Amino acid sequence: MGFTPSFAESVADAQLPEVRAWSAGLETLSLDERLAWCWQEFGKSAAVGTSLQGAGLVILHRSRELGLDFPVFTVDTGLLFSETLTLKAQVEQRLGIQIESLHPEQTLAEQAAEYGAELWKRSPDLCCTLRKVLPLQKKLAELDVWITGLRREQGPTRSKVGILERYEFDRLREQYLLKFNPLAGWPRERVRAYLKAHNLPMNPLKSQGYTSIGCQPCTHKLPPDAANERAGRWTGFDKTECGIHTFLGENI
Ligand code: SF4
Repeated sequence: MGFTPSFAESVADAQLPEVRAWSAGLETLSLDERLAWCWQEFGKSAAVGTSLQGAGLVILHRSRELGLDFPVFTVDTGLLFSETLTLKAQVEQRLGIQIESLHPEQTLAEQAAEYGAELWKRSPDLCCTLRKVLPLQKKLAELDVWITGLRREQGPTRSKVGILERYEFDRLREQYLLKFNPLAGWPRERVRAYLKAHNLPMNPLKSQGYTSIGCQPCTHKLPPDAANERAGRWTGFDKTECGIHTFLGENI
């Protein structure tokens, strides 16, 4: 691999060319080898952020099978489907893990009082910033590595995702970490096959036509053959990402 033993200590100084070289090295490894590398280099300063969709569940399951005790978190906006909350409890029980829920500063009632009711209908960018991006930003400040389930096949905004990226999550303070996307090259069918082979719990909404599942007000069904898995999110708005992977910061 060519990773130096001092890699973890050098995160704060890692520059884009170096990270790209490390990412290219990781491309040649299996998923298990990638996860083991991350654990060896970063331990618990790397954490899995999951919205409990298929790829995230694959990462959680493989990590447990390999005995890699990464911390796990999810962003609970207060607007998730009840099926997603049930799935969280099922995954915790099945894998014997705790998934930390990150909450927005404001309750829905407080947000409605300040910005008006159903902000997502008028300004989804602001709503996502308040309910997803800011809680996540706070969490990322504690970490060296954010492990995600991003896959290139999910849609145009994700088609160039690298296995490892240098990610600025706070432009004002010029703070960044490494974003680790070990399943970047996995197609949807491979994820599905893995979940089925290991009898892992799945969100029942998946079989009802929801290919990408976020907050209830902003998630819609798609036909089974839809090319863009995320086209059912924020239907009617020129918006394809909540900002967690885009607005929040950028790969630099
Ligand atoms: S997905 Fe919709 S409801 Fe959820 S935080 Fe974003 S705009 Fe608000």
